[in-house]
Amino acid sequence: MSGVKTHCPYCALQCGMRIEGSPQEPRIAGDPDFPTNRGALCVKGWSAGVTLAHPERLTTPLVRNVRGFLEPATWDEAIARTVEGFREARAQGGADAVGVFGSGSLTNEKAYYLGKFARVALGTRMIDYNGRFCMSSAAAASNKALGVDRGLPFPLADIAQADAILLVGSNVAETMPPLMQYFEAQRARGGKLIVVDPRRSSTGLAADLHLRLAPGSDAAVANGLLHLLVRAGAVDAKYIRERTEGFEAVRAVVASYWPERVESLAGVPQADLLRAAQILAHAETVMVLTGRGPEQQSHGVENALSYINLALAMGMVGKRNAGYGCLTGQGNGQGGREHGQKADQLPGYRRIDDPAARAHVAGVWGIDPESIPGPGKSAYEMLDGIGEAEGIRALFVMGSNPVVSAPNARRIEARLRELQFLVVSDFFRSETADIADVVFPAAQWAEEPGTTTNVEGRVILRRRVFDPPQAVRTDLDLLCELAAGLGKGEFFPSSDPERVFVELCRASAGGPADYSAMSYGELDAKGGVHWGGERLFHERFPTPSGRARFHVVHDVHPFEEPNESYPLYLTTGRVLAQYQSGTQTRRVPTLAKVNPEPLAEMHPLQARRHGLSDGDAVILATRRGRARFSVKVTPNIREDTVFVPFHWGGVGSANRLTQDALDPTSRMPEFKVCAVRIERGTSA
Ligand code: SF4
Repeated sequence: MSGVKTHCPYCALQCGMRIEGSPQEPRIAGDPDFPTNRGALCVKGWSAGVTLAHPERLTTPLVRNVRGFLEPATWDEAIARTVEGFREARAQGGADAVGVFGSGSLTNEKAYYLGKFARVALGTRMIDYNGRFCMSSAAAASNKALGVDRGLPFPLADIAQADAILLVGSNVAETMPPLMQYFEAQRARGGKLIVVDPRRSSTGLAADLHLRLAPGSDAAVANGLLHLLVRAGAVDAKYIRERTEGFEAVRAVVASYWPERVESLAGVPQADLLRAAQILAHAETVMVLTGRGPEQQSHGVENALSYINLALAMGMVGKRNAGYGCLTGQGNGQGGREHGQKADQLPGYRRIDDPAARAHVAGVWGIDPESIPGPGKSAYEMLDGIGEAEGIRALFVMGSNPVVSAPNARRIEARLRELQFLVVSDFFRSETADIADVVFPAAQWAEEPGTTTNVEGRVILRRRVFDPPQAVRTDLDLLCELAAGLGKGEFFPSSDPERVFVELCRASAGGPADYSAMSYGELDAKGGVHWGGERLFHERFPTPSGRARFHVVHDVHPFEEPNESYPLYLTTGRVLAQYQSGTQTRRVPTLAKVNPEPLAEMHPLQARRHGLSDGDAVILATRRGRARFSVKVTPNIREDTVFVPFHWGGVGSANRLTQDALDPTSRMPEFKVCAVRIERGTSA
């Protein structure tokens, strides 16, 4: 197929695709030349063009009128109303009274400009993004242990070459189906795949061994495996001695993680744990991959560290076809955390409290380093602080839908309704846009060029294929216009993505994620470039000592455990044909047909106990609230656990149930574990 080469707008694989036709009738095919997906696309990618000319698409700004309704407005009116709203909030509460909430779906250019907009145009500390809810725990763990965070520090193709893979809390077969070709190739070579998950998901069904752990017990399993490897003499003493520090303290702690103890903590049968350890011990190359399962917990950083410990002890990190990696979820989850839309970071993945970083970035921005605000609050804390004396009064949300995606979502929705001014930029009326004062219609993925950084740290260029509808502008246009309205237009001289990328590259120079040698021309010609090189850690780690660091992890428990009132675990995740908060995918008929509604998966014993069958309506109740689902009975889940997907809002919102306890380091909420009760009935 001919057509313009570009990339899928959804997940972090950023599959290469070719598009031809028109926005009304786009024809999409996988790009066989792109090395990540090699021509394969999942159903989301095939149908991604439907959003372009969708009848519900926003095609004009909306402003809330005196009667309380959102009504069409001109761009000038919407910009003026927004500038006024920001100014009023600042006049009453100072610069930090305005918050900015970004997204891991934004291109690198948008993430960069949004961070600059917050610090330079608004002068606020209060910026964070929905990636805080996604990969922040693994990112923090990688930084602590390995000195840098790049989701996968090796190319995806290495997966096919690993002798053994330990895949923890990730359902690749549904979330990133084209990636399964690497796992299938790995198994066809005789490699072994071990999946750790409370559910025997589609990925678990394809594995050689499934460790069905209790939600929240991930670190116990990692420690138990390391215990067995130490006992078997299957750790790499030379590697530990020469390339790491801190192992002895970890060895002392895992000494007490006998299989009997792990079985009682995690519910994993001893025989399964022993078999997993044998597979790992006999493999020449082992890859340890984590997903949101262990990461989206109030001990998410420790969980990820426990699996990094395992990879380090086996001497696998930096070895070819082996190592530790985090399977990033959002389309630009990696780039989204590198360019300054995190509360504590500046472009280039620099710390905002580092004087040298501030001086460098201030030089690029043409401002005094002292004028760059300090670190702000994390995503959940910023939203939950609304209504308090020091809380934000106005909020600018770009490409995110926290009414559906935040934990304890009813509480967060109530907080957002307390704002005196809420602005959303999106291309559909999301649940968050529905309660905004101003909504800007944004150009979509195929209507503007831009770069993203995929799960393996490959920076790629998405090309523009079609023009956006007439009254629709890009997010970069919007940022420039708002900055001009705030009297800071001189710092945002261009909304041309390529010019913004050139500035981003300068701002990143010398930082951990250094893009300074890249250009659109090179990215286009090469089909992407890995920052830092294809493979990291071959000779040394970017830590002060050049060594990787072990971290002691023990006695990790979820914030909330089942009890008499809430006797089961609840865990959440994704399904094949929906993506994130569902703003786009719920509107695509093909996808809605595959996954039309949120199903609560439960074990047949639980279903029998409650008199439930497939398709019955059921209410799930937690300490945060209640939500309604249809029942799916399956033996592929633990008897003590219920699973729900989080792509829906309203009465079927999984996040009305989820826990908002935060990891002390990453500030990641505990989406993956809480205590729940099954109720019969339909009223949520
Ligand atoms: Fe798009 Fe991800 Fe599906 Fe690839 S796997 S087509 S990037 S949603």
